[in-house]
Parts: sequence; structure tokens; C-alpha cells
Amino acid sequence: MSENETKTIALPSITTVRDLAKKVNSTPIQVIKVLMANGVMANINQQIDFDTAAVVLAELGYEASLEVPEVEEEQVGEVPLWRRLIDKEDPQNLVTRPPVITILGHVDHGKTTLLDAIRHTNVAAGESGGITQHIGAYQITHKKKIITFLDTPGHAAFTAMRARGAQGADIVVLVVAANDGVMPQTREAIAHARAARVPIIVAMNKIDLDDANPDFVKQQLADAGLVSDEWDGDTIIVPVSAKKNTGIDDLLEAILLVADNTKILANPKGIVTGTVIEAEVDKSRGVVATLLVQNGTLRTGDAIAVGLASGNIRAMFDFKGNQIKEAGPATPAQILGLNGVPKAGDPFQVCDSEREARVIINKRKVKLEESKATKPMTTLEDLFDRVKAGEMGELKLILKADVQGSLEPIVNSLNDIKQSEIRVNILHAETGAITENDVMLAAASQAIVLGFNVVAETPAKRLAETEKISIRTYEIIYRLLEDVEKALKGMLEPEKKEVVVGKADVLQTFRISKVGAIAGCRVTEGEIRRNANVRVMRGETVLFTGELASLKHEKDNEKEVKTGFECGLRVKGFNDFEVGDKVVCFTVEEIAR
Ligand code: GDP
Repeated sequence: MSENETKTIALPSITTVRDLAKKVNSTPIQVIKVLMANGVMANINQQIDFDTAAVVLAELGYEASLEVPEVEEEQVGEVPLWRRLIDKEDPQNLVTRPPVITILGHVDHGKTTLLDAIRHTNVAAGESGGITQHIGAYQITHKKKIITFLDTPGHAAFTAMRARGAQGADIVVLVVAANDGVMPQTREAIAHARAARVPIIVAMNKIDLDDANPDFVKQQLADAGLVSDEWDGDTIIVPVSAKKNTGIDDLLEAILLVADNTKILANPKGIVTGTVIEAEVDKSRGVVATLLVQNGTLRTGDAIAVGLASGNIRAMFDFKGNQIKEAGPATPAQILGLNGVPKAGDPFQVCDSEREARVIINKRKVKLEESKATKPMTTLEDLFDRVKAGEMGELKLILKADVQGSLEPIVNSLNDIKQSEIRVNILHAETGAITENDVMLAAASQAIVLGFNVVAETPAKRLAETEKISIRTYEIIYRLLEDVEKALKGMLEPEKKEVVVGKADVLQTFRISKVGAIAGCRVTEGEIRRNANVRVMRGETVLFTGELASLKHEKDNEKEVKTGFECGLRVKGFNDFEVGDKVVCFTVEEIAR
């Protein structure tokens, strides 16, 4: 280092005298002396803030820089959509825009009531006769700052948007009822927000109730990874009562604070883009779509391409139903004039002419058809390839298991796997069958779904087929871990797919000595085949997987028994049938790659 070059030392926001001395290879006494000379009396273990420490360093001939803790968001994962949108904008033209908020949480915890409470206390009645309309979003002003709320609560909408790459919200407000605590959908919502790297503020609702137990719920939230700032964590938890209208101002305050910290920008004069919030056909007005402008300013008369629709904006309204001529960043606007109904989450862009918009749409349609034909399955293997190619820094998993007792050890073991540079990121781990929501989250986050002792619900399977999401189910923990390890090492064997060929309900059970248990069944779907595999299910739990030992219809041995018929069957190695169990018959096929 040359003489006139000052060495920079990185410091945390709070440090002790001892640590500071160590960093500059000096003695604590020396540091204490400098502090005293500056009027600060301190002992060796005293904590000093960054500014004070910087003064000490300056006197000792160093420069201080604030150590920024490694935020996960910055290491891997998604870049917020607005950041990608403004990538091409000249930084000089960027201004802060209002934050867009979505409300998530468990059913009945008060999402709708909260949205109504915020709206009613903060929105001046619409000029057009005091009627405000629901167009999928609204704006309020708090302390002279605008906040945009998406008012279709629930993570299905949030994730559907993300699945189309259109992350609409900048901040998630997670509603948790203080008398009910963290529930499955609360955890799901946390997983969705985390996967999208969107900051979470908790609205602890229903604090007016006698059985509200905020401390207990705070602990539950901390266990779920949302540690209250009162406990030195970084989640703001605001007690509210949506019903009694208390705490709402505090919540809005918290939103503005987080928004300020996130610095959400846009260029009002830039390229006009955004997302569809909702759209429908109105009998008298034609296609009515609510768009959320995310960059630029949308104007009546503009030609736009929206999802697979296009048109000239014939008229535009705000959420109060007032006709408007333009809508800037973070403004929801209802527009008329499209030639088709776009989907929520579809992006829109302004074009030079309607003709150009039509060309874009046609290209999009062709591309969509092509991708339908060629979209590859998201499998462990190809996720790994992409991880290796540097496209993804982690392997994202969604894990479902039958009971908490098996979920925990699996999560712990997965977190312990250190096969390579690549991190395993468990986006969501929960008990219960694999649902559509899980597949949706996987699709939106490029993750795969692993099940332990659970099956995928039929709608989830259907969605997985169309979204090309891989669902792998296991009955042995070791196998599940082994597959993930193999995927990380890039040596996974071809994926096998189970094809269900039939299902039967157990109506009666018999026991024959020396032979074992026989289940008297009725086939309810497809057929039961003598030489296929079977799984015995009780509710959602897999009791046993194996082969049939015999299959009879009346007294005859059969190769298969079809829907509507009764049969008697035995399963090799399984004798614990109960009336009400289900027998699922399946074959195993290798997935062609
Ligand atoms: P959502 O399913 O999350 O949208 O929940 P809702 O907003 O529909 O509310 C579910 C129920 O909880 C309704 O009966 C509300 O009146 C009630 N509720 C919502 N917020 C509060 C609150 O702060 N206090 C009390 N006591 N009840 C509330």
C-alpha cells in the first residue's frame, strides 16, 4: 500500500471496543484513548455504533465502510420484476414510485376485512356518487404518500401472476389471526413470498378478541422464520383489528417504512409496461381489463399488446370509476378497447400502432404453440443441468410429508447435504397431500415437488402435466435423500413415472389362516391388474406399497377386474386391511427424455 492510500476497513453497524482494536491491529487502550479524546467514555466490552467507530478509525488513519450483511436475496434467486423492467432505463430518470401491496394469509384470518378497513378509512368516496368499485386494486394516501393495494387476496392469485413472470406485488402483508396463529396457509404464504423474494410485514389481526395470544403467535412466527423486530429479527409485526379499525395507521406506517428501505423505482417517462390484474367481458362495455402500470405512463389512445390480446385504449378509469387520461407507475387502471380477454399476470406493453401490437400478439401465439410442443419437463436432472450451467444457484424443492415427525428429519437431512457448491433451498415444507398450490409454487419458482408417504391430488397431477413439473414421491427417507444427492452430483437415474391404472375401495376384510388377509373390494376407477403394483392407502397416508399376491372375482383367479365389479385381493407382505382403505393399482414407466 502506498503512503497516501487509506486502507478501508469494513465494520458492522455495532461493534465493541475490543473488536475494533483487533481490526486495526491496535490495542483496546489505544482505541479507548481516541474515544476519550472525542468525549466518549468507554470500556473494553462497550458497544459502539458505526459512526463513532468511523471517527476512531479516521484518527487511526483508516477509512470505515459499513459491512453489509449478506442478504440472501442478493446471492441467488429472483430479481424483482420492476428491477428488471427499469434495467434499460437511464438512472437519471428514475423516481420512487408507490409500493404495490398484496395481502396473503390463512382463510378467515381477516384478509378481506383488512382490505376493506384500509380502503374505507383511507379512500375518499369516489366523486361519481360516492361509489367505489372493485377493479382488483385500489390506492390510498397515507401521510401524503400513495400505496397501491391489490385486492384479490390469497396466494393463488399471487402465484399465478408469478408463474407468468409477472410478480405484481412489492411487499406482502401477511395476515395472521392472533387467536388462531400460524396455520398451513400461513406457512404456504410465507413460502410463496420467500420464493418471490418479496419482503413480508405481518398484520397480527383480531387482537380485539379475548382469546388473542399475540406472544404465542409471535413465537410461532419466529419458528416459521419471521422473527419480530422487537426480538431483534427483521420482521415488522403490527397488531391490528380489521374489524375494530385499530392499528391500521401503524400498518400503513410499516408499509411505507419497508417501501422506503426497498427503494422501488420507475421511470414515468420510460417504456410503458405492466401487468394485468384482472379482466373480463362486460355485456355492455366489451373487454374490461385492469392493468397495473409498472413503468412509464399509460394513456388513452395508446395501442397495446396484452397477453394474447391487443387494441387501442378507448377509455380508461381509476378505481373510483372516474375517467382518467393517463396512469403512471403503480397506478391500477381499468381499460376498454381490447380485442380479447387477457389473463391475470399477463404482461402488457405499449406499441407504436395497433398494427404493431397485432404483429407482436401473432408472434406470441406462434411462440406459445411451439413452446407447448417443446417445453421440457422440469425434472431434477435438468434443473441440475441449469444449476451447473450457472443459470440457477440452487436446487429449489417443495416437500410434502405425511406427518410432522417425518418432515423434520427430512428437512434437517436435506439441509445437511453438502455435495457441491449448489445449495438446496427448501421453499416450502408441510404435511399433507401434494396440492395444486404446491405445483403452482413449483412452476413459479422452477422447483420440483417431493412427497414422502403422500400422494399428489388429482388436480395437482393434472397441473403438473400441463406445467411440466416433476413430482417425485417416496416411501423411504433414505431414497429421497439419495435422489437429491444424486441430482446435486448430476448422476440421477432416469425418472420413473407411476401411471395409476385403477382404484378399489375395501368393503370387507377376511383373514384366512396360513394365507393371510383378504380385502373384499369394489373397483371404483379403471381396473385392478394382477401383475401391476399396488398401494394401500388410508386417507392420505400410504400404508404399504407392493405387489398383489392374488386377485379373484367370485371364485375365479383374474388377470384384471374392471370398474364396478367386486374382487377379493391379497397383497404380498401386507395383512392389516381395514374397511374404508383404498387400493391403488399402478404401473411404473420410465419418462422418456
Ligand atoms: P379472509 O378469509 O382472510 O378474507 O377473512 P375475512 O376477512 O372474510 O374474515 C373472516 C372472519 O373474521 C369474518 O367473520 C370477519 O368479520 C372476522 N374478522 C376479521 N377481522 C377481524 C378482527 O380484527 N376481529 C374480529 N373479532 N373478527 C375479525
